[in-house]
Amino acid sequence: MKQFFKNVASLLLCCGKASKVLQQFNKSRLRSIYYHRIAATPATGCTVDQDMFVDQDMFDAQMALVVKNFNPVGEKDILAALAGTKPLPRDPVWVTFDDGFKDNFVCARPILKKYNIPATFFITTGYINGTCAPIDTWVRRSFLMTQAENYDSSVARLSVADEVLQSWGVLGSPVDERFIALLGRLNVHPDHVKDEFMTWEEIAQLKREGFDIGSHTVSHPAFASITQEQMRREIMGSKAEIESRIGAVVSSFAYPFGKSIQTGQAVAAPLLKQSGFKLAVTTRGGVTRLNGSTALDIPRFGVSRRDSIPFFNCKVATGGGWQR
Ligand SMILES: [Zn+2]
Repeated sequence: MKQFFKNVASLLLCCGKASKVLQQFNKSRLRSIYYHRIAATPATGCTVDQDMFVDQDMFDAQMALVVKNFNPVGEKDILAALAGTKPLPRDPVWVTFDDGFKDNFVCARPILKKYNIPATFFITTGYINGTCAPIDTWVRRSFLMTQAENYDSSVARLSVADEVLQSWGVLGSPVDERFIALLGRLNVHPDHVKDEFMTWEEIAQLKREGFDIGSHTVSHPAFASITQEQMRREIMGSKAEIESRIGAVVSSFAYPFGKSIQTGQAVAAPLLKQSGFKLAVTTRGGVTRLNGSTALDIPRFGVSRRDSIPFFNCKVATGGGWQR
């Protein structure tokens, strides 16, 4: 509810002239957008985890707006600005995708190409290889979808899902027996809750077509809850595998669950530097004035299926700084 009021307040703030003033104020700062999934068909009826999705038509309209009102930039531009060889254009916007979902290739790629927008795809290598999966999302989705059990509200459903996840502790492989048993209990078909990921061939093709590929770890852990040695394995393991698959250097990294409290940045940033990363992004909203000390802590704002075009414009103008 608090988020709802923040969104309404932000929209009011961004209407009309205020949006132009904020855009002018942020004109030399980098805004970075993160997406997860682009849906081929618009949502109908009751839909779950709306913040994970943007419908393809809406994504097309958003990218048209980015090209019209702002200047899309890619890693080449950002690294040149960091090196001091070429400044960023005014109103720079970096479009990014997290996790490596199949629909990024199928639905987002043609639209990015149509508008000539460079983008970075942050890949969780374990998801691509099928050795890990976002089980937490799949469990929450299962509880939101089930007709087999009755709950008063979606909040109640999510609270039971979180109890289950907590009782499981550290999550295992995607074919975990506990997950299969849960799907049986909730009478939910696996295809309705599981996500499909890109193949390595598709990821290599994105790179060949001029897009950038970044690292998003091997198994997508919250960095605040793992050891330094585990972080090192997650960071270096994903970088090495992506580089060998695409035949190019990986310079960018996205923190899993990148709100500041979850990132474990104080420990991770030196590891990222040692491993050769030049850019690291969070999911804490805001804009950034790019320099050596901010390059491994770049804020990004998320987009929801529920965002209208004026609200999206407001987010890009302001960098969605209220998303903490
Ligand atoms: Zn992620």
